[in-house]
Amino acid sequence: MTASPSLVGLRDTGVWIFDLDNTLYPASCNLFAQVDRRIGEYIARHFDIPFEQARLQQKRFFREYGTTLNGLMAEHRVDPIDYMDYVHDIDVSSVQPSALLIAALDRLPGRKVIYTNGSTRHAENVAGRLGVLDRFEAIYDIVTADYRPKPDPRPYADLIARHGIDPARACMVEDIARNLAPAHALGMTTVWLRGEKDYERAGVEDGQHIDHQVDDLPRWLATVAGLEVAGLESGADGPATPL
Ligand SMILES: [Mg+2]
Repeated sequence: MTASPSLVGLRDTGVWIFDLDNTLYPASCNLFAQVDRRIGEYIARHFDIPFEQARLQQKRFFREYGTTLNGLMAEHRVDPIDYMDYVHDIDVSSVQPSALLIAALDRLPGRKVIYTNGSTRHAENVAGRLGVLDRFEAIYDIVTADYRPKPDPRPYADLIARHGIDPARACMVEDIARNLAPAHALGMTTVWLRGEKDYERAGVEDGQHIDHQVDDLPRWLATVAGLEVAGLESGADGPATPL
């Protein structure tokens, strides 16, 4: 696959900002199902209530506060670190190291940052499993964001200030389309990793804030980087093919 002119321009990107969950690894790994269950278990243990009742609490916190954690912190002063350590203590073996992703990140010029609504420990766990952790110079997590999850615009501004990012030369990649709106408003190039679920697609119809739509991130990044994709995809579990 030869990169189109619009993709060739992306090689001048100064900073790549990647979401973590369902972006750096495919949604089919289904890690969120484990996290979601651990959240229910955490609430059940914390309040000593049955799991099904905890589920209702979880849904209410999410609805009223944007995240379950914010509800727990606001109403019950739950220790956020204790909470995140518990809910992110999951089995990540469904995430497969991707030789293509590794090769693409290595070839792509520009700094790389992870921006996640999860914790740094979770990002290190998953990116380590993918084999790409040392390709990122920083992880901007929900603690650094002062517990303001995307798409709250404040942490986006903090992220670029903290890491000296020129938004005009930055590119953000996300599976949840609405999380790209604040990035676009700052002047970043935006890449939506297409999904079918309502929460992933919300806002796509007005679409002004989405510059590129992508189905397969490692393959797309490799194309942007000018890599020959054939030969790298098949050996997903093996060492990267010498370039
Ligand atoms: Mg995500």
